[in-house]
Amino acid sequence: MRTGKLIAFNGPGKSLEIRTELVRKLLPGEILVKNQFTTICGSDLHTYTGLRKEPCPVVLGHEIVGTIVEIERQHSGRDYNSEKLEPGDLITWTIFSSDPTSSLSRDGMPQKGDNLFKYGHAQITEREHFHGGLAEYCILRPGTGILKLPKDLPPQVAATVNCSISTVAGAIRLAGNLRDKKVVIFGAGMLGITCAAMCRVKSAKWVSVVDMDTDRLTKAMSFGADQTFNLNVCNLVEEIATKFPTNGVDVVFDMSGSPEAMESGMELLGIGGKAIWVGAVFGTRKVQVNPENLIRKLITIRGLHNYNFEDFVSGLNFIKRNWKRFPFESAVEKEFDLEDAEKAFDYALRNKPLRVGIRIK
Ligand SMILES: [Zn+2]
Repeated sequence: MRTGKLIAFNGPGKSLEIRTELVRKLLPGEILVKNQFTTICGSDLHTYTGLRKEPCPVVLGHEIVGTIVEIERQHSGRDYNSEKLEPGDLITWTIFSSDPTSSLSRDGMPQKGDNLFKYGHAQITEREHFHGGLAEYCILRPGTGILKLPKDLPPQVAATVNCSISTVAGAIRLAGNLRDKKVVIFGAGMLGITCAAMCRVKSAKWVSVVDMDTDRLTKAMSFGADQTFNLNVCNLVEEIATKFPTNGVDVVFDMSGSPEAMESGMELLGIGGKAIWVGAVFGTRKVQVNPENLIRKLITIRGLHNYNFEDFVSGLNFIKRNWKRFPFESAVEKEFDLEDAEKAFDYALRNKPLRVGIRIK
């Protein structure tokens, strides 16, 4: 029998626990993966600090890449693009698995489909241990979207594909045609800078990023932003009104989760404007919307949580084509070994890098 290490999170304020557990036999249609690299996402930090609740003990980490160890014979042996899968292949997979025949899945929302399971969010039970990124192994269930990765894609870049990159690909899908559009992005974390890069690639006319952190705003410029706004030193609504006096901006993305940001975003939009809200995946106060403004300006608000298979494919395609054009390799600012996961979380909270990485030997 094979055994593997995992890091158990037992609740906010408690030390992470290193455990060694048996890797169970695969069930029909499952794939066993040896995790190679995991990046700590903002929502992992929210759970770690108690801003978000998960059933404990849990194996955190859902931005993962790994190599195939074993494919159970009832699996099709193909990835989502119908490419053949074999042991040793480097792969990424969707943050969720769900029943593809359920009605929400068929309506393009598999991330909310029946029998939903989310990697890096599940409780450790007597039977199930290996379902997160902070572990040596991960067992992939049927209903998981899997994509084979190019050999030259660094694991530091590939790890973010199955959460932040694909989520932004979903936000871009909701925004529609971005050619010649003026865009404002709130939040210069991993989601915001990726969004800037994708808007640039989609031929937006003017891409701006708003945050309160000067270092992050500087980074946003290297990810395709034309201009940045630091809310500590400027009045955004006034500045945009001066810059675009006739019709405001076309699309605002909220990657920050801040109610104030969502409210100011609504004020910046011109006729036909779109607001795409992605960041608020934790409790906030209610946001005030001026209905007359929304109606008269024909404004649309769309919310997005996670992503669907189409977004996952376009997220990976974007990274394949653009990981060298924008400095995605620099997003992982520090790396730790799996055994030092606690140091990695503490570093991430103290220094607020775009990402910290966990190397899994
Ligand atoms: Zn995430």
